[in-house]
Amino acid sequence: MAPETPNPIPSYSQIACVGAGISAIALGATLRRWHQIDDIRFFERHDDCGGTWHISSYPGCACDVPSALYSFSFAPNPRWTKLMPSNKEIKAYQQDVADTYGLREKMKRRKQIEAYMRKTAPEKYHDILIPDFEVGCKRRVFDCGYLDSLHKENTLLTDAKILEIVPEGIKTSNGLIPADVIVLATGFDTSYVLPGITVHGRNNTTVAEH
Ligand SMILES: Cc1cc2nc3c(=O)[nH]c(=O)nc-3n(C[C@H](O)[C@H](O)[C@H](O)COP(=O)(O)OP(=O)(O)OC[C@H]3O[C@@H](n4cnc5c(N)ncnc54)[C@H](O)[C@@H]3O)c2cc1C
Repeated sequence: MAPETPNPIPSYSQIACVGAGISAIALGATLRRWHQIDDIRFFERHDDCGGTWHISSYPGCACDVPSALYSFSFAPNPRWTKLMPSNKEIKAYQQDVADTYGLREKMKRRKQIEAYMRKTAPEKYHDILIPDFEVGCKRRVFDCGYLDSLHKENTLLTDAKILEIVPEGIKTSNGLIPADVIVLATGFDTSYVLPGITVHGRNNTTVAEH
């Protein structure tokens, strides 16, 4: 039997870094240089590293401090072409440093994360699963089998609007979903105090009203 291809990125890491700009590269390089730690993974929402210098691309975009000062002390760059180099040059420099410290292969970028979702989740759910909004306070789903479970025959994921609960099940904007038991697992109400009991205080005011 052919040996399994090892996954180059393990599913567990000692350190996770959100973002892959110059600060992230400094972190990765410093952990290697000072502590010999390379068990780190970077999660970047753009499709490449470099942060500001990858994202900004307007004409004339350049550093406003001398390049020798906008360099890592541990990675001086004799190849700067200008005192105030362009965004492209800075990005290339940062990527060189990332490569020197083996950081790029530890970076999961937007396209890779999307590609993983597309590979693992059933195709029919792609539109529902890949958010079209910025990551905010929404709880993240850590995929310990969640995407795989969507392939099960007894699982249906839908974002159809619930119109009515009827004796046969749930009436949605996409039709009836038959059900014997309905579980509401929609989280708790953070702004409701002491759910299940009503406590009255002075002047008959309830805790919630107070
Ligand atoms: C146009 C412009 C010119 C500048 N010029 C100079 C200059 O001349 N000199 C100077 O010293 N500084 C300059 N700066 C400031 C510059 O931003 C900093 O010097 C430096 O690049 C900041 O690096 P950083 O890694 O901390 O942040 P960033 O470069 O902003 O990188 C942060 C990274 O984190 C990612 N990220 C953020 N949130 C998430 C998330 N939730 N999930 C996944 N990824 C996420 C972002 O996509 C980004 O790639 C300039 C900034 C801009 C915008």
